[in-house]
Amino acid sequence: MDQRQLDLPGIMGDTGLADELDENRKGSGLCNRGELHVHMNGAIPALTIREILADEETVLPAGFEFERDLVRTSPCQSLAEYLTPWQVLRLFPRKRENLDRLTHAVFAGFADNNVRFVELRSSILYLASLQKCSPAQALERLIESTGKAAQRYGIRRGLILTVTRGDYSAVNLSTLLQAYSDLGEPKDVIGLDLAGDEEIGYPAELPSLFQAAKDRFGLGVTIHAGETGRVVNHPGFRGGCFV
Ligand SMILES: [Zn+2]
Repeated sequence: MDQRQLDLPGIMGDTGLADELDENRKGSGLCNRGELHVHMNGAIPALTIREILADEETVLPAGFEFERDLVRTSPCQSLAEYLTPWQVLRLFPRKRENLDRLTHAVFAGFADNNVRFVELRSSILYLASLQKCSPAQALERLIESTGKAAQRYGIRRGLILTVTRGDYSAVNLSTLLQAYSDLGEPKDVIGLDLAGDEEIGYPAELPSLFQAAKDRFGLGVTIHAGETGRVVNHPGFRGGCFV
C-alpha cells in the first residue's frame, strides 16, 4: 500500500448507516479491506442490471443470453470471450437516476465485503454518450454519484478513468483530460487506465499522451497489459512498458 492509496479523498461518512456498519464490522472480527482493481460496471449485481435494462427498455444484442453470457464462471478461450458481458454492460445507464441506482448497489456490495477503500475504474465517455451529456457533465455525475454512495457506506474511493484501446484512444484520452481540467482537476480522480482487447491497436502517440498526463496532473497510470499472450505488452518486457 503506498501513500497515494492512503490519501484517497477523505469522504468517510458520519451518517447513521456508516456508523452502524462500523459497529457491525467491529463485532464481526473481519479485517478491513481495500480493493485496488474494480471496474465499476463489472461490480454491479446481476439483479440490478436486469432491473435497469428493464426500466430503460434496453434491447439485448443479437445472440446475447443474459443467464449464459453476463457472468463468466469458467475459463475463457480468449480475452474477447471474457469481455462478452461488456456487450451489455456498456448499454446502460441512460437515465441519471439509474447511475445512482447502480452505484449504490456496487457500494453496498463493497460494504458487505468489508471494503473500506476502493480504486474504482470507469469510462466517462461511454456515460456521456449514453446520457447525452458532455464528458465534463458525465464526470461530474460520476463524482457526485459515487461520492454519495461512498459517504453512505463509509467507504473512501478514488476514481480511475479508463480509455479503451483502438483508433480513437488518443482522441478519447485528450477529451477526458479536457473534462477533468474543466472541472478543476477534482481530487476524486486519482488515475488513468488503458484497457481493452490487446489485439486491437492504438495510435503511436498514445504512450506519450499518458506520460504527459502523468507529468502534468500527477495522476497515477495503470495499463491492462499481457492479458492476451502478447509478450511485448507484459510489464516485464522492457520495450513494452512505458510507465
Ligand atoms: Zn481490469
